Amino acid sequence: MMQGPEDSTDPDDAPDGLDMLRDEAAAYAWIERIVWPQGPVCPRCGRGDRIGALHGASVHLGTYKCYACRKPFSFRSGTPFHASNVSLTRWLQALYLCRDGEIPRPSVLQTALGITAKTAAALRRRLERELSPRRPAKLR
Ligand SMILES: [Zn+2]
Repeated sequence: MMQGPEDSTDPDDAPDGLDMLRDEAAAYAWIERIVWPQGPVCPRCGRGDRIGALHGASVHLGTYKCYACRKPFSFRSGTPFHASNVSLTRWLQALYLCRDGEIPRPSVLQTALGITAKTAAALRRRLERELSPRRPAKLR
């Protein structure tokens, strides 16, 4: 089925990975539809029926509140993306750069993503840890 280019909410319809990965809100919408095809689910109690999206200047993008256990969460909760200062778009761009199975050198990440050398080095360490097939991901 053909769809117009303005319909960018369908993850199967993303024409160009990098285009989608330039906008933080679009990146969240895209990945949330993959992680939660039936809508947001609380990672603590597993319920999806009493969830509300949180908005506001002090609220991180993609934050939801579970009104059953009264805790905020996002799809980043419990994942390598959690508690990271790197924006989701940069994370996804970094993963995109790893698509050939090789993790780029920090200098490449720094230039491609427009981040500092320190952030690039930290990001590469995290990518190495998370993408290593032999070692299970550790979240702490
Ligand atoms: Zn809950």
